[in-house]
Amino acid sequence: MRIEVVTIGDELLLGFTIDTNAAHLARQLAAVGVEIIRRTTCGDTAESIAAAVGEALERADGVITTGGLGPTSDDLTKPAIAALFGRGMTLDEEHLAWMRDRWATRWPERPMPEANVQQAMVPEGARKLENRHGSAPGIFLEDARGRWVAMLPGVPREMRGMLGDTLLPLIRERLGDVDRVVRSTTLRTTGVAESLVADRIETIEGGVGDVSLAYLPNVDGVDLRLTVRDLPPREADARLAAAAERVRGVMGAAIYGEGEDDLAAVVLEACRARGLMLAVAESCTGGMLGARLTAIPGSSDVVCGGVIAYADAVKRSLLDVPEALLLAHGAVSEPVVRAMATGARARLDVGAALAITGVAGPGGGTAAKPVGAVWIALDLEGRVEARALRLWGDRDEVRRRSAQAALELLRRALSPGGNS
Ligand code: AMP
Ligand code: MG
Repeated sequence: MRIEVVTIGDELLLGFTIDTNAAHLARQLAAVGVEIIRRTTCGDTAESIAAAVGEALERADGVITTGGLGPTSDDLTKPAIAALFGRGMTLDEEHLAWMRDRWATRWPERPMPEANVQQAMVPEGARKLENRHGSAPGIFLEDARGRWVAMLPGVPREMRGMLGDTLLPLIRERLGDVDRVVRSTTLRTTGVAESLVADRIETIEGGVGDVSLAYLPNVDGVDLRLTVRDLPPREADARLAAAAERVRGVMGAAIYGEGEDDLAAVVLEACRARGLMLAVAESCTGGMLGARLTAIPGSSDVVCGGVIAYADAVKRSLLDVPEALLLAHGAVSEPVVRAMATGARARLDVGAALAITGVAGPGGGTAAKPVGAVWIALDLEGRVEARALRLWGDRDEVRRRSAQAALELLRRALSPGGNS
């Protein structure tokens, strides 16, 4: 099955909204064995929508669009594509009644604006795709030759819901038994430079076979994505698993997770397994580490709290960092970061505390302590371990890399034989 994607919206063309819908569609479709052969973005005019979809239909069996299903005047996807198929528009009374009900429960004091009626207009002969996450239904339209267009909402959460709930099952049904698929798996590493990761990968004897390997560096580390193409599903899974095993063999403890795994979640799980409570003391990251940890659902049984010790006065008063250390070594120093970790552990009465202090930039750097000079420390049940980091990037990147490195320090300390 050959599918093209058309994402619709002026905001995408202008670069104000990043086209995450196309990426999500590509990943989900690949997983069921469908490859997207081309993707296009067009603006919010009926002409450009009809042109983009019309051209795509000349090449593909099916076209998926996102965007332009809303109630406002720039939402023209349905009538534009209906016209392309030579169909008129009709009112779906059932959907309109459902919308009126929904409105009445949410805003009982106001009548539903008439503009919303547009969302209940559907092309003649179309099949509706249920939207459990919003008010605009999706539309599935097919022509006499069996070529089809599926119209999904632009709002990413609604688009993802509708894809998983209704469109993917429909596509699977049309595919019948798939004999060839594209499958990927991602192994996540952190704290090892991309070139060093590559050096280690090159030591794999016989390589990873015909599995393609992509290095994806980002602020959190280097992700390794393994992909197999054009294989029967079982064979694809087996080859992928074998290649992942080989990569794990050479990367060892540098791999902290798979897929979308978040290092903060991995660390929380490790703490939970040991019944360890955790506190943070943050200077240059200003709460970022605490935010990473508490963003994970269920973090409350591990995370106790923390201190944003930005000013030296706070390092002294709330973390008991001795004034003499601050005067002798400065706030960005090994003695101070150690004292911050120990102070946080004692004050918050927990088993483990992480501390961060550094120069995030862009100003404030000196020859001895340039921008990106960061100290991190862990006090784990009284044993204190500190690391000097020399980070790069802008202020945001330095701060994010610092938080990630602190999490990694704790993960390594908690993983058996974890320093290889
Ligand atoms: P629309 O359905 O066209 O009214 O789009 C609603 C909202 O969804 C827009 O304001 C965007 O923020 C978002 N959106 C639309 N298309 C995309 C896309 N391709 N990727 C990510 N977000 C999108
Ligand atoms: Mg739009």
